[in-house]
Amino acid sequence: MTIVDTPERRQLRELTRAFVTKEVLPYLDDWERAGEVPRSLHETAAKIGLLGIGFPESVGGSGGDLLDSILVTEEIIRSGGSSGLIAALFTHGIALPHMVAARDDGLIERYVRPTLAGTMIGSLAITEPDGGSDVAGIRTCARRDGDHYVVNGSKTYITSGVRSDFVTTAVCTDFPGSGSLSLLVIEKGMPGFTVGRRLEKLGWHCSDTAELSFVDVRVPVANRIGPEDTGFLAIMQQFATERLSLATQAYATAQRCVELATRWCRDRSTFGRPLASRQLVRHGLAEMHTRTEAARAYVHDVATRVAAGEPVVTEVAMAKNVAVAACDFVVDAALQLHGGFGYLRDAEVERHYRDARILGIGGGTTEIMNEIIAKGMGL
Ligand SMILES: Cc1cc2nc3c(=O)[nH]c(=O)nc-3n(C[C@H](O)[C@H](O)[C@H](O)COP(=O)(O)OP(=O)(O)OC[C@H]3O[C@@H](n4cnc5c(N)ncnc54)[C@H](O)[C@@H]3O)c2cc1C
Repeated sequence: MTIVDTPERRQLRELTRAFVTKEVLPYLDDWERAGEVPRSLHETAAKIGLLGIGFPESVGGSGGDLLDSILVTEEIIRSGGSSGLIAALFTHGIALPHMVAARDDGLIERYVRPTLAGTMIGSLAITEPDGGSDVAGIRTCARRDGDHYVVNGSKTYITSGVRSDFVTTAVCTDFPGSGSLSLLVIEKGMPGFTVGRRLEKLGWHCSDTAELSFVDVRVPVANRIGPEDTGFLAIMQQFATERLSLATQAYATAQRCVELATRWCRDRSTFGRPLASRQLVRHGLAEMHTRTEAARAYVHDVATRVAAGEPVVTEVAMAKNVAVAACDFVVDAALQLHGGFGYLRDAEVERHYRDARILGIGGGTTEIMNEIIAKGMGL
C-alpha cells in the first residue's frame, strides 16, 4: 500500500481539499497581512477531524499515522494553501508528541486534548538567541525548588509563540550548556513569562513568530515531560517527524509551483506562440517535474520506513535535503517563467518563493543534515 492508494486516504485527501477550498483560500491573503491565522480556524479544522490526524484517539486525536499526516500536508499545499499555513495551524505537530510519548495523563488532559480540539494553541521552544543548531548547548535553565522549577532564559524564532497558550520548552536542568535537558510545559500567564516582539519575516507571513523571555518563572514539577534529563533524547526522537513534515512541505510546494508554471506557460504567449511550445521552456518544466517527483518518491519511501519503526535517522536527513533542494530549484524557476508577474504579491508563486526559503533552515539546517549524513557514513 502506498500513501495515495487506500480508499480511506483518498477520502482524507478530498476532506482536506474541501477544507482548504472553503475555509482557507478566501481568507489566506488577509491572514498573510494580519500576520497570523485566527483561532477559529483551529476549531473548524478540529471539528472535521483534520487537526487530530496522526494522533491516537485515546488522547483526543483522529487516529491515522505519519503517512496520513504527510498526505494532509501534501494536499493542503496542492490545493492552494502554503507551508506557512501548515506551520501556523499544525504547530501542535511539534508541541505535543513528547507529551503523548511520555504517556503523562495529567499533561494529556490539560494540554493535548484541548489543543487537538482546537481550543488551545501550543508551541515548541528550543532555539535561543545564542544558537539553534547546537541543541545540547541550551542555556535557559530550570533550578529545582521544592515542587517547582524556577526558569530563567530566553527563546527566539518560536512558531505560534505570539498566540500560544502554552510552550513546550527545552530547559537545562544542570548548569547552562551542560546538555542535561528536560522539557517543561510553560503556560502563558505564569508570572515572569513574557512574549516579546512579533518577529517580521521574509515568508511564512500568516504564521506568527515570537521571542520569549523567562525571568524566575515558577513551573510546577508536574509540568515536566518525562523524567529529568531525558529532554535531549525526546527532542531527537521527535525530530524525524518534524523533518519529514518539512520535506513534505518542500516537495508539495515544488509540485504546486510546477502546476502553476505549467498552466502559466500554456496560457502566456510571447512572439506569437505559447511559452509552452518552446523547447527550452518545455525542457525546463520537465526538469522541474522530474526533480519534484524524485523528491516525493524518496520522502514517501523514508516516511514509510519511519512509520514501520525503522531507525532511519540518516535517511530522514537525506530526504529533507533532497526535497529542499528540489523545492529551491523549482520555486526559482517557476517565478522566472512567470516573468514580471511572478515578482508581484498577486502571484501565488511569489508567496511560495518566499515561504520556501525557511525549509532548509527550520527543524535543523541543510548543513546540520549533512553532518548527520556524514556521521551515518561513518565519517
Ligand atoms: C520562521 C522560523 C520559525 C522557527 N520556528 C521555530 C520553533 O517553533 N521552535 C524552535 O525552537 N525554533 C524555531 N526556529 C529556529 C530554527 O530551528 C533555527 O533557526 C535553526 O535550527 C538554525 O539555528 P540558528 O538560527 O540559531 O542558526 P545557527 O545554529 O547559529 O547556524 C547559523 C549557520 O551556521 C551553520 N552551522 C551551524 N553549525 C554548523 C556546523 N557545525 N557546521 C557547518 N555549518 C554549521 C548553520 O547551518 C547555519 O547556516 C524557527 C526559525 C524560523 C526562521
